[in-house]
Amino acid sequence: MRRFAKSFTQQEAISDTAIEAAVAVMRSGRLHRYNLAEGEQGETALLEQEFAATLGIPHALACASGGYALQLALRACGLEAGDKVLCNAFTLSPVPGSIVAAGGEPVLVDILEDTTVDPEDLARAADQSGARFFMLSHMRGHIGDMHAIMQVCDSRGITVIEDCAHTMGASYDGKPSGTFGKVGCYSTQTYKHVNSGEGGLLATADDEVMRRAIILSGSYMLYDRHLAAPAAESFAETRLQTPNMSGRMDNLRAAILRPQLGELAERRERWNALYARMQDRLAAMEGVTPILRGPLEGYVGSSIQFTLAQCSHEQIAAFIAGCEARGLPVKWYGKPLPEDYTSRYDSWAYLGSHRAVPNADRVLATLCDLRLPLTFDVQDCEVIADLIQDALHSARPVSTVA
Ligand SMILES: *Cc1c(COP(=O)(O)O)cnc(C)c1O
Repeated sequence: MRRFAKSFTQQEAISDTAIEAAVAVMRSGRLHRYNLAEGEQGETALLEQEFAATLGIPHALACASGGYALQLALRACGLEAGDKVLCNAFTLSPVPGSIVAAGGEPVLVDILEDTTVDPEDLARAADQSGARFFMLSHMRGHIGDMHAIMQVCDSRGITVIEDCAHTMGASYDGKPSGTFGKVGCYSTQTYKHVNSGEGGLLATADDEVMRRAIILSGSYMLYDRHLAAPAAESFAETRLQTPNMSGRMDNLRAAILRPQLGELAERRERWNALYARMQDRLAAMEGVTPILRGPLEGYVGSSIQFTLAQCSHEQIAAFIAGCEARGLPVKWYGKPLPEDYTSRYDSWAYLGSHRAVPNADRVLATLCDLRLPLTFDVQDCEVIADLIQDALHSARPVSTVA
């Protein structure tokens, strides 16, 4: 059987510029973000300043991971133990995990056909639960109707925190993803749009939220060494009222990330070329429905999703096995048990009882997912599509097509 030979988990090498910047930090010995020579600004503070500028907002904070940024955002926005937090039914496990870590209680919100949050169910869930927070996940890079979502939240005084782990470099109606809500949270973990192994970023235009986030992240009393933060004099009260929940980023990772910020636009072009080819090929296959993007989404196509709505559970299981045999690790959200990154809300048993989310149940039952690493080219997409077509034919002989 023909097999695809490349690895879906192989990321591009770190550039020489980034490697040299990292080596310079190591030579200096000053890896801790607040360990600065006289007059030095430091890689971490510069990363924050440069990242905030890409979003066109005043404040950004680098921290230990994307999941940590989400926890920090909830706490900085005033979450108290036992508070309810609205959360997409379709998201990645660190999202409900961060809500629980911050002391909140996730309240599931159903999704639409395109996997984004359903604004009508959001309004219902908000009214039923009385939640004051919504952690909005742009899961797999799909951005929902932000105007409708923000209208539901603004009219109820709900604080929105955006999980932009898959939308760094993306926008909606021309506005950067992460700047609609009170706080935007990003991940710099290896499989996201910039790669420092682990890491997170948090961005906000709100002075008090940023002061609290900085102290929470473990700044000791060194907040004057930030470049994308409110004035040091304004911390007088916040600094004594906010606990230190240590989770900083270090200069080594920041040094690797700074050159990558400048590459984001070019990466987006390359990702979207792969994405466009895969989408065209998938859309032409009988029984395959790619999850479409709305006209206002300025997306980064780092992965692609499609449903097999006419296939039975057994046929999809056979299709996934056929893909694996052909070297394609297609993920399926309908698997009974979670695997790799495909955990479903019903595998978060710690949530206990939860709202019914029938659309999520139906859509996830046949939803498949494929990463599109930048180590692939458009020709690889053709091969992948041919193999998907083969696997589909074997799993679902043409005679059974309705
Ligand atoms: C990766 C990811 C996160 C968390 O990021 P980490 O840096 O791995 O903690 C949060 N949400 C989504 C949707 C993600 O994919």
